[in-house]
Amino acid sequence: MNIDIRSIPHIEFTRFGGSTIDVEVMQAASVVLVGTGGGRLVAELLARSALGNIVIIDPDTVDGTRNPLTQGHAWSEHGEPKAQTTARACWSINHTIEVKALEMTWEEACASEEKIIASANFLAACTDSYAVNRAVRRFGLAHGIDVVEGWIYPDGDACEHVTTFPEVAAAGCGCGTCHLWMRHRAYEQGFQNPRDIPAYAIPSAYSSVQTAQIIIARLHQRAGSTLPIVRLAEQFQHRPAQITRLNPNFWAAPGEPFGDTPDEFGTFMTRAYGKDWPADWECPDCQGGRHVKIGGAPKF
Ligand SMILES: [Zn+2]
Repeated sequence: MNIDIRSIPHIEFTRFGGSTIDVEVMQAASVVLVGTGGGRLVAELLARSALGNIVIIDPDTVDGTRNPLTQGHAWSEHGEPKAQTTARACWSINHTIEVKALEMTWEEACASEEKIIASANFLAACTDSYAVNRAVRRFGLAHGIDVVEGWIYPDGDACEHVTTFPEVAAAGCGCGTCHLWMRHRAYEQGFQNPRDIPAYAIPSAYSSVQTAQIIIARLHQRAGSTLPIVRLAEQFQHRPAQITRLNPNFWAAPGEPFGDTPDEFGTFMTRAYGKDWPADWECPDCQGGRHVKIGGAPKF
């Protein structure tokens, strides 16, 4: 099937209706997406939400025998760079988006494209590597840029979202490293992820929807919007971490997260968390807020 794309009319954003999301806010914004596994759907949702500019960083190629089962990639894209296929998907959805695909690691991207990354409004860390997500977090703190990371628990029982907002960290209310302090210590002591964690597409998609929503909300807040979506960003200023339970029995023991949740609220229950680190915690990244750049990000 061949379609002459010149015959397709331009996309319009009237469906947003003026009360959901603001086209001007989205078109003025740029997001750097690090990792296009779960991040593929994040990118597509942002493209559908009128995002103006996206930089996609991923060194991998699509494995058509495995990736379609857990990520947004397709069997027919086998062997192609994930950054390229994701860029193509974004543009196919919304021709007004500017897309830059960087087929390289986060480290390489920082070395060769630091200016571009540092001028973004938002960094989305969508990898399954604690080290890479932490490096993105640290970059955000150093440059005054907002960061969100999405994590999926083994077997897809829950997904977790942690934000690093510079002004929140500067106020001593923690960065992503603070909120993930227990995991941070475990990795410091040599913990390694199991090689193959059972997974399927639904938890990843569910998590990606939340990641995209948090980004959109925060972009609106930074731009001074008064739309209701801003309240989501405000919630993350007070409680920067949240867990959403996809398996109703997950962690249901008394005293554990969700242990006191009534049965009728069992499905897709989300809990938000604020400061919960121990008194002796010394954050190596935000250092209690003493070394955080703020005011670098808003460029609307
Ligand atoms: Zn911290």
